[in-house]
Order: sequence, then C-alpha cells, then structure tokens
Amino acid sequence: MEINSTYRAVQAVSPGCLELTQKTLQAPGPGKVRIRIEACGVCHSDAGTVEGSFPINWPRVPGHEVIGRIDELGTGVQGWAVGQRVGVGFLGGSCGYCAFCRGGDLVHCQNQEYTGIHHDGGYAEVMIAKASGLVSVPDELSSVDAAPLLCAGLTTFSALRNSPAKAGDLVAVVGIGGLGHLAVQYARHMGFEVAAIARGRDTAELAAKLGAHHYIDSVASDPAQALQALGGAKVILVTASGGKATTATFKGLRPGGVSIVLGVGAEPIEVSDMDLTFGGRKLAGALTGDPATGDTTLRFSALSGVAAMIEKVPLEDAANAYEKMKTGKARFRIVLTMG
Ligand SMILES: [Zn+2]
Ligand SMILES: [Zn+2]
Repeated sequence: MEINSTYRAVQAVSPGCLELTQKTLQAPGPGKVRIRIEACGVCHSDAGTVEGSFPINWPRVPGHEVIGRIDELGTGVQGWAVGQRVGVGFLGGSCGYCAFCRGGDLVHCQNQEYTGIHHDGGYAEVMIAKASGLVSVPDELSSVDAAPLLCAGLTTFSALRNSPAKAGDLVAVVGIGGLGHLAVQYARHMGFEVAAIARGRDTAELAAKLGAHHYIDSVASDPAQALQALGGAKVILVTASGGKATTATFKGLRPGGVSIVLGVGAEPIEVSDMDLTFGGRKLAGALTGDPATGDTTLRFSALSGVAAMIEKVPLEDAANAYEKMKTGKARFRIVLTMG
C-alpha cells in the first residue's frame, strides 16, 4: 500500500510560467518503471518545455537530468530492480523495432519520446520512465553529482568519444558554460591537448583549473588564427549556442578536422565552400547519446573525478532556479533536490 497517493511536482502551465502542484501517483505501464526522484538538473533545453518552443501539451513537468530509485516495475520490465538507483536523460527510451533501432542507432529511434517534452520529466518527486532509456548509476556518484552528467555530461562525453580525435590531438572547446566546463574536463582526461575558447580574460583561470592547456580569448584575438598557431584543431566542440561561435572558429581546424555543434540556436552558421573543400574540413552536429554511453559517462566521471560545478536548490524553488539558468546567472549547473 502506498502511504502517499500524491506527490509534489513543478509544471509548466503556459509559456514562461512554472507552478508547484500535487499530482496523483500512477502505476507504471508495460515496459515502464516508476521512480522516486532524488535530484534533477536544470538544463537550457528545459526552455523547450517552459517557453513552449517545442509543441507542448500543457501542463507539462520539465526536466531531463533525473536521478532516483525505482519503486515499481511495470509488466515486462527485465534487467532492472525495485530499489535500484537509475538515471533518465533527454531521450525517453528507444522502441527496439524501428529501422534505426534495428541498425543499432538508439539516439535516432523514430518512436522515441523526449523526457519532459512528450511526457512529464524530473521537476517532481516521482516520474514514470521507459525502461529502455534508463542509465545505471555507480555507487561512487551522489545523485546530485550524477544528475547534470545525464545531459550536459553525456552530450559532451559522447561527442568527444565518437569524434576522430586521438590521444595527443588538439581539441578545442568553445564556450565554458554548463556544457563547456564538463567538455574541458572530459577532453583532458581522454588524453587530448585541450584549448578552451571563451569571451574575455575572466574565464582563463577557471579553464586552466578544469584542465585546459591553452586559453584563447575570442574578444582579444581571432580564435581561428590562435588555433592554427597551435597547429590546428582535430576537433572543435562548439558548446556555445549561436552560429557565430561556430563560424568564428571553423578555420581553426586542421585538414580533415571536424567542428561539432552541440548548442542549439536560431542563428545560421556561415561557412564558405572554400573553407570546407581546402583541407577537407567537416561541419557536424551531435545530439546527446545512447543509454550505454550514459552508463559509460557516469562510470568515466566517477573514475576520473570529472564533476559539474553545482548549486543545489530545493524543488519548490524550481521557478527561480529556471530563471537563474535562463538569464545565464547559474555557475554552472543547478540541481533540484527533492528533500
Ligand atoms: Zn526505434
Ligand atoms: Zn539538457
């Protein structure tokens, strides 16, 4: 018997408006689990839900950096146990039967829902998640520390891990924010020569502390020229949104190098055909990662000590936390705790 048949949640009810509410506890359907949430990160992509830039069926609970414990299994769920600590990221779980799933590409499953967009996410004490999307959480990581690694961590770790860079190659990280401050740490621990690129001198000290070998101030110098002076980057990871950041750094690639865009904005990227053809450079994008890479992200983070810089906020203050993130005042990830 459940002692509490309701739970607290913070839901978006109209563009820009979050409210605290009570929801009725539901049993998980087939192939799904119910999770008692311990922590949920606040991500820039939550704006897709809160501002309604994705098509949203109001009311909707945002949040896709969720850590909690399974408290009930739906029928047919195998490989997961009640009491087990799990993570839920942006991708809500693959179907297993579409053409992309059958080819092993779970990220681009055609029947995949997005957490906090198509169904309720982690700004709550409880959520229901598809078992095929779950990530396992190593004991060494606290729930608060693990939460931001499920989107900001997985996105940067997966992009670097799948990139053509090898140990010793120059890898540049553009933008030292929520994603970038993790990307610099991962790049350093993966054995790359790391250049951090940000606006102004203020970030130089932090970049060095995170493990960057070089710091390039994109206001004081041309970042593409600065990268060429270091021999040219094999990979440029663009974590800042806005096409200009990609455009400004693209010519810093060495021949055969790739610029991988992770930030999402409306601004177009301007790259000339000359820049692409001479040097055989590539422009690419990457969307988060599959659950197995999520497992590896958390394990690698625990082994290497890579961690997000976190500010903890109780669930009931989610609206303030969201506003702080949205106005760029968060240093660097905010994590909601359920108490
Ligand atoms: Zn599928
Ligand atoms: Zn996210």
